[in-house]
Amino acid sequence: MRRSGLLLAIASGVLALLSGCGLFNFERRAAWRDEAEQACLSSKSVKISAYVEPAREISGPGACGMLQPFRVAALGDGTVGLTNKAVLGCPMLTGVDQWLADVVQPAAALYYGAPVAELRAGSYSCRSVNNRLGGPKSEHAFGNAMDVMAFRLADGREINVEKGWRGQPRDQEFLREVFVGSCRHFTTVLGPGSDAQHYNHFHLDLARHSRGRVICKPVIKFEPRLDALASRAATPRPQQPALYPSVASGANPMMLAQPSEEPYDGEAEGEVESEPVMPTGPRGFDPFAPRPPAAVGR
Ligand SMILES: [Zn+2]
Repeated sequence: MRRSGLLLAIASGVLALLSGCGLFNFERRAAWRDEAEQACLSSKSVKISAYVEPAREISGPGACGMLQPFRVAALGDGTVGLTNKAVLGCPMLTGVDQWLADVVQPAAALYYGAPVAELRAGSYSCRSVNNRLGGPKSEHAFGNAMDVMAFRLADGREINVEKGWRGQPRDQEFLREVFVGSCRHFTTVLGPGSDAQHYNHFHLDLARHSRGRVICKPVIKFEPRLDALASRAATPRPQQPALYPSVASGANPMMLAQPSEEPYDGEAEGEVESEPVMPTGPRGFDPFAPRPPAAVGR
């Protein structure tokens, strides 16, 4: 009895070591991820088209993957191309399409008088947050995140997140308008100034944070013009509407609770510490092939 107990202890110790080495990976996806995907798929919010095609399930390594990946060549019913094809799950693909329609295109019309025709963006990548060894998985590992590096307008102008964030006033305002609007559509939004990894892109994801929190960083001082236009166009309501009604339900508590003391273009931090791996342009599609579709970061 004592001996078999000892053997069991040794065996489980060996297994633990092996799993630590990555030979056995028992890590499983949280149940809510598959549930959210299933619910999204049954809502039929994703339309299969020449630009959006279903790919086979990605299962592993470890918890990475999703039930039904979509390989996306263009968003917004084919109106907004992607320089690199994206791989996204149903919830994020749906969320990004709504974000384009509700935030990005109205902002592009307001600031440039032209629609966005292309995004430079990264998506699926089986990795941990900030590529930290043994750290928690990034939302990119579940097709639940997108990194946006640049917006190209129909007239060819490009608004680059890194250059534009502290660039021309109009680019600064457009990017801030998009950033603030993003916080109503996603549960994590990180931009230049949030940390060293996000100086050159917006990270958007639909993570489920504890207590329904929405993480929206950096805190910026910016008065969104789209909100003002929308409320002016709306018919008078009996009650004062909430400033930021919801993501699905969460507001942007950081922005509401603590308006920044910083000047308009003076977000602290965000200085470049290392050159991140930029996404390259894979042409063929193999979800299992190692490739860098998402920027380093969340
Ligand atoms: Zn990211």
